[in-house]
Amino acid sequence: MSDTTTRPNISMDAALAEARERYVRANPASLAAHVAATAVMPGGNTRTTLFHGPFPLAMARGQGCRLTDLDGHDYIDMIGEYSAGLFGHSRPEIRAAIDAALDAGINLGAHGAMEARLARLICDRFPSIDLVRFTNSGTEANLMAVATAIAVTGRRKVMVMEGGYHGGLMYFGGGGTSVNAPHHYVLGRYNDPDGVAALIDANAGDLACILVEPMMGAGGCLPATPAFLRALREGATRTGAILIFDEVMTSRMSAGGRQAQLGIVPDMTTLGKYIGGGMSFGAFGGRADIMARYDPRRADALPHGGTFNNNVLSMAAGHAGMSQVFTPAVADALFARGEALRARLNAAAATAGVAAVWTGLGSLATVHFGLAAPPTCPAEAAVADKDATELVFLDLLVRGFYLARRGMIALNLDIGDAECDAFVAAWSAFLADYASVLRR
Ligand code: PMP
Repeated sequence: MSDTTTRPNISMDAALAEARERYVRANPASLAAHVAATAVMPGGNTRTTLFHGPFPLAMARGQGCRLTDLDGHDYIDMIGEYSAGLFGHSRPEIRAAIDAALDAGINLGAHGAMEARLARLICDRFPSIDLVRFTNSGTEANLMAVATAIAVTGRRKVMVMEGGYHGGLMYFGGGGTSVNAPHHYVLGRYNDPDGVAALIDANAGDLACILVEPMMGAGGCLPATPAFLRALREGATRTGAILIFDEVMTSRMSAGGRQAQLGIVPDMTTLGKYIGGGMSFGAFGGRADIMARYDPRRADALPHGGTFNNNVLSMAAGHAGMSQVFTPAVADALFARGEALRARLNAAAATAGVAAVWTGLGSLATVHFGLAAPPTCPAEAAVADKDATELVFLDLLVRGFYLARRGMIALNLDIGDAECDAFVAAWSAFLADYASVLRR
């Protein structure tokens, strides 16, 4: 944005009011797009995550790691499509694969050669995945994995974690929502090994599965401790429940996801986001004996349809991304880049004397303001200073950085040292400018 940053006022309320006014002034085209959209979509929105006040920012285009909004402001894209945009906006290998798929024709209504090639890459990389099936989204992958566990075990209960997010139909903030898939849920507390072990035992016999993210992503980039994940692994083994890791976000932590990094292997895994090369994508996979239930040659086969499950764009872009771009070495380098960046952001907050902490793993991080210690579960994160999160979002837009309104960043592969240095500088300037209104 071209508007210059104004200095802070004495109260948080005044600082926020000023930042919102500046945003409204700077973004008339986004406002007009929002107003037009409200006539035909509820709240002008078709993806709740993206909505924010005073009205959502609308993007016009992207190139590399940069975005341009409808009003012509340029940003470094720090949210990378909430982790689905790992490859940036114009990676040549992805573009070439999509072009080739388009040249060969879309909507062929048949098996193709590419789906098995992508499946091979996935099975070779993720320790828990012997066999895999594709879906259109991470939401669908989780719905399928849970349904599989219920069908295979003949049990009803589904254990999830308070505050967990597994897609629009399985969100457990505030105990769950009325649009959640109607399963019999048992809610555990994240990073509480003893608590979940007791809960698993109390529900043994009717527990079909345990669905957990190795790091809560939407819940605030809160990593699971190995002890917590091991308690789930042991509890599932003890009771015959199926342990499902939702690695829709965490699969990028290494070539084989967080499970490979920790050496803790679930029975099933769900994937999504960037693995389709930036096209719509989801996958669920796991142990051969579980996944074999979908073998259509079997008399007792479970059904799994989906017109677009093997659509040629997702299969081709995904294969190019995983084979040519996101190699194991690149995955490790991205993890290291993210770890280094988070350390620098936290060091800057400490130097400024501001109570702000970036939690996360590798290339995914979320800032939490006003807490005495880094949160380890959603309940602890919930008491963070939400006004400060809005302020940093609005302020960093002015400084040329686009992150999630909730304070999350997800690095893409086009972000290099220069962009990281610039982001640390912008964060430090924000801390300095607003030191008087941020909790110490
Ligand atoms: N699981 C996790 C951990 C996610 O972060 C998300 C998306 N943010 C989903 C599932 C749902 O994936 P999708 O948006 O592709 O449906």
